[in-house]
Amino acid sequence: MQTERTASQAMRKKAVRKKANHAGKVIKVESMGGKRRLHETTVFIHKIPPSLSTNILYYTMGKAKKQGGKPRSRQKKPSPEIYTSRYGDFFCRPRGKRSPAAKYASIRRRKPPAISQKGDVPKTMFIKQDADHFAAIYIHIPFCLRKCNYCDFVSYPATADSPLFHPYIDSLLAEWRLWQRQGDFSRCHSIYIGGGTPSLLPAAEISRLLQFLPPAAEITLEANPETVTEEKLFRWRQGGINRLSLGAQSFNRGLLQAMGRGHDGKQTQQAVAAARQAGFDNLGLDLIYGLPGQTLAGWQADLAQALALQPQHLSLYGLSLSPETPWGRLAAQGRLAPAEEDQAAAMLAYAIDALEKAGLKQYEIANFAQPGRESRHNQVYWRRENYLGLGAAACSCAGNRRFANHQSLADYWQAVKQGRLPLAEEEYLSPQQVLGEAMFLGLRLIQGIDQQAFAQRYGIRPDQYYGPALEKLKKNGLLQEEGSWLRLTRRGLFLANRVFVEFV
Ligand code: SF4
Repeated sequence: MQTERTASQAMRKKAVRKKANHAGKVIKVESMGGKRRLHETTVFIHKIPPSLSTNILYYTMGKAKKQGGKPRSRQKKPSPEIYTSRYGDFFCRPRGKRSPAAKYASIRRRKPPAISQKGDVPKTMFIKQDADHFAAIYIHIPFCLRKCNYCDFVSYPATADSPLFHPYIDSLLAEWRLWQRQGDFSRCHSIYIGGGTPSLLPAAEISRLLQFLPPAAEITLEANPETVTEEKLFRWRQGGINRLSLGAQSFNRGLLQAMGRGHDGKQTQQAVAAARQAGFDNLGLDLIYGLPGQTLAGWQADLAQALALQPQHLSLYGLSLSPETPWGRLAAQGRLAPAEEDQAAAMLAYAIDALEKAGLKQYEIANFAQPGRESRHNQVYWRRENYLGLGAAACSCAGNRRFANHQSLADYWQAVKQGRLPLAEEEYLSPQQVLGEAMFLGLRLIQGIDQQAFAQRYGIRPDQYYGPALEKLKKNGLLQEEGSWLRLTRRGLFLANRVFVEFV
């Protein structure tokens, strides 16, 4: 430990020197789990070269104070607003750069950091950063038949016989070969092929990709009902895919058309039946609530139709609009009105009770599953484990390092072709930021955060570090403590953003 500490100290000093050179640079980053939104946001980032990545980040508050009078992470940083996304990830925008869509997104202004009073924070804090080991791989397939009216994920239009697919898989494999030399994937237990519309690709391309990836207990493919065929399903299953995530979104024809989706409810039902025939026994459906024009009765009907298909997993996403989308622009002009907050909350409340009765247990704010069928992949995000994103616009998290690939296909292709990692952006989080992230991601899980395990991993218990903030949240009925566990109350589930801002 002593050697590690000395080595880390040396690295930290070097990092501080290099950091000073890069501090204040503005780059753009925005991520949602493994995938990135098309819309970018400006944040201040301290860039440190990747060579300084370390397994244990050693941080001494006292020393940081000597260099600037304040801990580094609190020096001259713009105070950001925080958004929580439907995938539980987050992105920040400096105060003063308020988005025109702010009114329509789930935005909360940031309060001063809820750090314990001076003296409560230990002088020395260790954060274990197992930065080389990845628990999951996310693969982004950025192609869709058309763009849905509410979507701001990075995806490009393509037809089912697009000549882009083959070279894109070639590039993914080339990128994977680069990473294979750098990371440890021996404990990787989940591969998630998302998009975009991965089911648009020929099954042979998906199989070609999977052949070279490490084996994983859970291999998920996102599919849109109109692109699913019996043959594809059979070949996906043969190729090792054992979990299907189907973008149903709604069963209401009018709502689906308004959203710009390319399928109807019947196609979803047919896709589920065909998937069962092909041997998929782990199938999830995505639904959206809070849509313009959607009533509580309409939402109840959607849930009933989804439950009739007996999915193992249901993800329920409240609509949130970005200004870059057609619906976001209409909303900004006052020509489209998503459901009121109260109505959206009533829809979620109804869903929680109805799904519990149907045997789908809520295990995360927006996710429900039969026992044992919880998504392994998404839990990697919420537990703040390391994941590697491959493909254009894919995002990754490794210890305190977050990085993202080029969004543009041309830039992505060029980098990989030249034997370079196609990184467009990277960010190194301070220990405080890592703790905050671990808090608001972990609290998304219904079981909450085990404070003892948290202390073993991060060197400090949440109640030691966030004491006053936790007390306030408990007093307001948003948080509860049971033994070592800290979790949201039922009220806290509906006001989660109010809780999460305390940790940013
Ligand atoms: S299919 Fe999915 S990724 Fe593609 S445009 Fe629609 S919502 Fe976005």
